[in-house]
Parts: sequence; C-alpha cells; structure tokens
Amino acid sequence: MTRFFLTTAIDYVNSQPHLGTSYEKICADVIARYKRLCGFDTLFLMGNDEHSQNVFKKASEEGLDPLAYCDRMEDVFRTAWRRLDVSFDDFIRTTEPRHKAGVTDLVKRIYDAGDIYEGVYEGWYCVSCEEFKQEKDLADGNCPLHPTLKPEWIREKNYFFRLSKYQQPLLDHFAAHPEFMQPDMRRNEILRLIESGLIDVSVSRAGQSWGIPLPWDPGSVVYVWFDALINYASAVGLGHDPQMFARWWPADLHVIGKDITRFHAVIWPAMLMAAQLPVPRQIFGHGFMTLNGQRMSKTLGNLIDPGDAAGRLGTDTLRLYLVKEVAFGGDGDFSWERYDERYNVDLANNLGNLVSRVTTMAVRYRQGRLAPTGAGSDQLARLGERVIADYRRAMDGFALHEGAAAAFRLIDATNEFIAATSPWALAKDAASADRLTQVLFDAAEAIRLSAVLLLPIIPSSGREILDPSGRAGTRRHAPT
Ligand SMILES: [Zn+2]
Repeated sequence: MTRFFLTTAIDYVNSQPHLGTSYEKICADVIARYKRLCGFDTLFLMGNDEHSQNVFKKASEEGLDPLAYCDRMEDVFRTAWRRLDVSFDDFIRTTEPRHKAGVTDLVKRIYDAGDIYEGVYEGWYCVSCEEFKQEKDLADGNCPLHPTLKPEWIREKNYFFRLSKYQQPLLDHFAAHPEFMQPDMRRNEILRLIESGLIDVSVSRAGQSWGIPLPWDPGSVVYVWFDALINYASAVGLGHDPQMFARWWPADLHVIGKDITRFHAVIWPAMLMAAQLPVPRQIFGHGFMTLNGQRMSKTLGNLIDPGDAAGRLGTDTLRLYLVKEVAFGGDGDFSWERYDERYNVDLANNLGNLVSRVTTMAVRYRQGRLAPTGAGSDQLARLGERVIADYRRAMDGFALHEGAAAAFRLIDATNEFIAATSPWALAKDAASADRLTQVLFDAAEAIRLSAVLLLPIIPSSGREILDPSGRAGTRRHAPT
C-alpha cells in the first residue's frame, strides 16, 4: 500500500488553541481523511512545541515546573482537537525522549559534516517571537509583531548553521521540484528570498536550561526553532528507530501557516541536505483567518474559541465553513452571520432536507428498498461521475474548497432532480411505478455518493447519512 505521511505545525503551549490554529488542523485533517479514503496507508502527525522560553516563563509565572505545565497543556490541546474531529495518528511533544534522540542525531550529523561552527552572536532578539532579528526586520527599533516589547540586545556564544552554503542546492531543488512549495504565490516569495542571498543562522542558545543540550557542548541548548523543525523526523524514528524512519521518511506533506514558510522551505530542507537525509516532498503554506475582516489576536481580544464555534452549530458546520468558504492557500474571513447563514443553506436546507425527503419517500413508497428498474434517464449518474473526477482532481491538488463545492454540486442537482421529477406525483399513477422506483434510486445513489465525498470534510454527517441502519435508506448500497 502506498504510504502518505503528513504533518501540521506543532503549537507553542503558552497560549490556547484558537480558530486560527484550528483552521490549519482541520484542513490537514481533511487531507488525511481523504488520503485514507483513497486507500493510502496514512500517518497524520501533530504535536506541541514545548522548548520555548515563553513556555518556561509562563510556567514560572504560574508557579509550575515547566514539564508539569506542558503536561497540562497537552491535555488542553488534545481535547480541543478531538472536539473538532481531528484524526491525528500521532501526537509528539518536543520534551519526549524520542524527540531528544532525533534532535541529538540530526545536529550531530550536521556538526560532523562541518556545517555547524562556533561563533558569537551579537544582535537583536525578540523574546516573544523567539527569533534573532536583523536591523531591517525592526520597525522604529521594535519587532513589528510585538511593538510594546523592546527587543533584547544579546551577545553570546552561539553555534551557527552554514545556511549560506545551501543557497544553490536549494535553488536547484526548487527548479527540479516545482511542486515542493505550494501554492505558487508562496513558492515565488521563497524563491526571491533564496535568490537574494542566505546568511548563516544561529542554532543554539547559551546558558539556558530549558531545551535539548548540544551533544558536543552540553552548556548550550538547541535553539527552539531548530529543535521544533526536527519533530517531523523524530516522530518517525530518526535517531531511535531506523526501520520506522526508512518506512516513513521523507514526509509527503507539511501543512503550515504562511508566516513560517522561511523556516520550513529554506532552513529545514537545508538542514536535511547537510545531514544527507531526504527533504520533504511538499510544503503547503495556508493563509490566515480574519474575523469580520480584522486580524485575530490576543491583544485585540477577538480570538474565537473553536469549541464555542463548534458548540453553536456542530463540529461539522465549523469544518464545512472553514473548508468550503476559504480557498485553501489564500486568506479567509470568519463572521458569525455568514457562519449561521452557511449552516442554514448548505447543511440544513440543501443536504439535510434532501436526505430526509428522499428517505421519507423511499420508506413511504417502497418500504425503504430501492433497486434500479432502468426506467428513466441516467443524467444524475453521469453528473455523479463528472463530480467524482472533479472532486479527485481538486483534492489531489489540495484545492479543498473546490472538492467541497463539487460534492455540493451533486447535492444541488439532486434537489433539482427531485423537483423536476416530482416523485409524489408519480406515486399517484400506477403506470409510473418503475419510473418512481428509478427516480428514488437515482436520488438515493446521488446522496450516497455525495456523502462519501463529504466524509473527509464533515465526517460525522457523512457517516450518519451512510449509516446502514438507514436514515438515508441506502442499506443495499453502503460502501464496502
Ligand atoms: Zn516579535
């Protein structure tokens, strides 16, 4: 069986899951479920990023040992993802021994290859971003993302990764693999960045206790970003399970936000090249969600709790909104009004009413048993074939919104078909008995197909429609 290994970004545990982070996990989950539906042996990895100084600080503020704090947050995150029906197969924490083994192995490979060297870092550091900043990254001397927090001027012994050496290999890789970074708009941004020249990056912090020590200099810990990226490889055995690693590496897909494409599409592949390991096959940088056109942030106090959104109209409604209403790869907007409206139109009217009407008629007129009679046209069946082809093309290319739209095209057409064929009128005419059976069969079959296509997007509604105990009366045609 062909395997498919996909990952999401791992989350800092110093804040709670919100609609923005949930958006990424839900979209990745749709891809994972789609791959499983297509028969891939799928491994879907998520996790938490724990070696952050902000996590360390937050834990101390709450009077907790950092690990105890991370344990508590793991529960918060897992609960949130479960609530959204996110079907991850593995959940990695960067404080786990398996991750420590992976990080130790990878940094040692790069060090042994001569691509990590000792130096002194002197410059700005934004503690909130946990990023070294160049003068050109700052606005009026402040981090543009954290204008109220003065960046720190630090001077310390650091180890540096020879990123500059990988400028040409990266350009060659991008040229040979146009699909490596998607969508194209982000690929072009990254290409311009690489072409403009790469400078070596710091990979360690001195004098800190919270992190993974460098194997050759335990007085320094691996810089949190370098550490975090390695989770994708350590989860599948790097440094501790060579057989597993051979089976699952390289990853087929990293789903990440557009703000961290530089780390994933430049630094991460260069690290792997230096370690002489295969680079991931594809990286997809999704856009951001706004609320009524406004950026969502803790400072603005407009973060949406995904549990509240799911609680209002159901998890499937939230999933459908995020997948169908936002072109995957671009930015999207959320508003409670549109959310309610989409629920009424898509789920309650178009899908829900259709299922209940066809089921009721199938039971009333045919005791819930339908078989084709050949009396009628094959218009819906032909449309179904076209829709499946469109859906697969869209989903294979991660155009998730088009996949959802394709499924709903079949639902809309089935509603029109019912209106045009008027089964309730056919039922009054004994001569139309075969025609009525065929009409109901066609409608039920179109609903079954739509439900299968929607399984990755709205898994519980899809399952409910396909339930052989019969809400949709499709027992004889349930997928095998
Ligand atoms: Zn910052």
